[in-house]
Parts: sequence; C-alpha cells; structure tokens
Amino acid sequence: MRFAPARWLVVLLLAGGAPALAQDPGTLEDKPLPPLLHPESPSTPARELFGRKTKPDAAPAQAIGFYASGCLAGGVALPIDGATWQVMRLSRHRNWGHPKLVEFVERLADNAKKVGWNGLLVGDMSQPRGGPMLTGHSSHQVGLDADIWFTPMPDHVQSREEREFTSATQMVAEDRRDVDPKVWTHTRTELLRVAAQDPVVERIFVNAAIKKALCREAGSDRGWLAKVRPWWGHDYHFHIRIYCPADSPQCKPQPPPGNDEGCGHALDYWFTEPVLHPVPPPVPPKRQQTMASLPAACRKVLAAP
Ligand SMILES: [Zn+2]
Repeated sequence: MRFAPARWLVVLLLAGGAPALAQDPGTLEDKPLPPLLHPESPSTPARELFGRKTKPDAAPAQAIGFYASGCLAGGVALPIDGATWQVMRLSRHRNWGHPKLVEFVERLADNAKKVGWNGLLVGDMSQPRGGPMLTGHSSHQVGLDADIWFTPMPDHVQSREEREFTSATQMVAEDRRDVDPKVWTHTRTELLRVAAQDPVVERIFVNAAIKKALCREAGSDRGWLAKVRPWWGHDYHFHIRIYCPADSPQCKPQPPPGNDEGCGHALDYWFTEPVLHPVPPPVPPKRQQTMASLPAACRKVLAAP
C-alpha cells in the first residue's frame, strides 16, 4: 500500500483508537457477536457491552458525559439514504446519534449541495447507545461526533457491497506536506466552510496538510478556520463534533474553540520530521474503559430494555 499505513496505525493506537479506519472495508456477514460470559464483571471493558447493543433505549434523548467517555440515551438513526447523503459501512451500526447530530448531518448535506458538493458519504457516528467502540475512535461516545468522507456521493444509490468495500480517497500528498493536487478540489474547502459555519459545530478535525490547504484557500472570510483543527489521521475523512445540546445537562463540553484561525506558524509542529515520520515508541497498553469509568447514568442506558 502506498501510504505506509502501519505508521499511522501506531499513531492512531497512541491516540487511543484501535485500527478501524474510515476507509477500512466492512463486511457483508453481519452476524451478532457471541454473548459475554460475565457481562456484569466490573473488569468487563465497556466497549464489549456497548458494542453488543443493536438498538437504542427508549429514554428521552440525552448526551451523557464527555465525547471520549460517555454514552447516549434516546439515540436516533440517520436514515441510510437521503436525497443528499448515503451512509457507508452499514455493518458497523454506527449511524446513530443525538437527534441534534442527525438534524445537523441532514442540514449539512443540503448546505453542501448548495456549494457544489454532490452529497455526503457518512462514515461513523455513534453506536445505538453510544459508549466506547470495539474498533476505532476514542471519541464518538455521546452521539455528537460524525465522520464525513472526502469522497462525494455517487449519482446512484449504492449497493450494500459498495457501501462496505468502496474506499474513501486519500487527500494528503505522499510527502505529507500538503494535499494531493491530483485529488484535492476547492469545493472541499467550501464543504468544510459550510460545515464549520453551522452554529451547532464545535470542532472539525482534519489532517494538518488539509488544514494548510484550507488556510490558503479560505480568502477573506476566515472566522470559521478557528473551528478546524489538525489531528492525526483524517486524511480520508473529516470529523465533526457538535456542542452539547440544551437537553443534556450531563454532557461535558470542551473549552470553546476561540478565535485563533490556527494558520501559518501554528501548523509548523505538524510538519516537523518527527511528526511527519514518527519513530514508533513502545505502545503502552491501553487502559480499557469499564462501566465504573463512565458516568453512572450510562449503567441505566446500558441496562434498559
Ligand atoms: Zn471521527
């Protein structure tokens, strides 16, 4: 494979996620996971419990806890097809979110169309009850995060095979210092602009090379750049995080994004040699989140019928 993915897997592991990248293929064999022998044991990883939930609970919608440590009550599914979006990797069952996230994705799909984007390919949102996942992502736990592919929706309704196996497109050039001019288009800047300008959006994560391109292409309307942050991975998709909704008093916000557009020297760190070409340090064993490490209210979400 061209882009030395092993290196990035190490980086992603360090960032807290097991490998399951947006572009990783899914499966057509959607069989349930085997039951746990001791689900009630306090050492059972929370991801084994939440990863087995295929339906939401019936409680009113509420995002509970922090983006990387929490769960979701009253989750709703983004329909797998809309006029301006399609959900990818259906086998992952991650097209769930707080109703505000689902509304936002639908609104973004329409706004994107208006700036010339053919429609959204939607990657992972949350599990039906949120919580930690068996693969990928340390966040996406409270129903307020969504991954959107940098590949536009095709003009037909995709088959199950296409949704599971089509790869997203790598946007970053091989030297990792900029976007790949063979695939990057200005419409992608406009797509990120309309996403960031939506008032519910709190942060957007993209690869640093993509942020560099946005800084170059933004023109004079630049306030939205402050919400777009460089982060590891995110070469094939961008990650949108929305604010805690008003109906969710137990949702823990992040510090507000501020006004610094984060261009120029602010990006220097990301293009230093050790960051571009990291020498993998020994990977410390990841501490598994258990039910005790999540907000107490998540026990009720998990136990609900
Ligand atoms: Zn994400």
